[in-house]
Amino acid sequence: MSGCLFCQIAQGERPSHTIFAGDGEMAFLDIFPCAPGHTLVIPRQHYATLSDMPPEEVGRLFQAAAMVAAKVQGALGAAGFNLGINNGKAAGQEVFHVHIHIIPRYPGDGGGSMKSVAHFKGKENLEAIAAKLRPAFASP
Ligand code: AMP
Ligand code: ZN
Repeated sequence: MSGCLFCQIAQGERPSHTIFAGDGEMAFLDIFPCAPGHTLVIPRQHYATLSDMPPEEVGRLFQAAAMVAAKVQGALGAAGFNLGINNGKAAGQEVFHVHIHIIPRYPGDGGGSMKSVAHFKGKENLEAIAAKLRPAFASP
């Protein structure tokens, strides 16, 4: 898609620190890393968000991300990693070409878990929420 930063990277029209170049997916270093080795994994084809992707492509993207994350962790001697997607503006998405963040984690790096991305302090009625959600999974 013309004007898309990550399409330009995928097509080699914009420089990137690419570490993995597959046919359908690729991985490159985040230009503003929040940890050493912070990596982004993208499909070469343009989809704005995860919700726009066909399921088979989602599968391939996550397989690539798991493979890249394991290699990044091993090569950098990280102790673990967070893997996540900012899906939609409300979730902090800034580049609307779907990408998975791999954030290597190191002992004492001061970061939190994925639960630190939101700060809900209320009390949920879990059964009421579950009852609201289950119909979405019922077969037609
Ligand atoms: P998000 O908020 O999930 O859309 O994150 C977009 C990410 O892309 C941010 O972490 C940016 O640092 C990163 N980013 C933006 N431009 C580039 C670029 N040209 N090369 C690599 N990473 C980039
Ligand atoms: Zn794109």
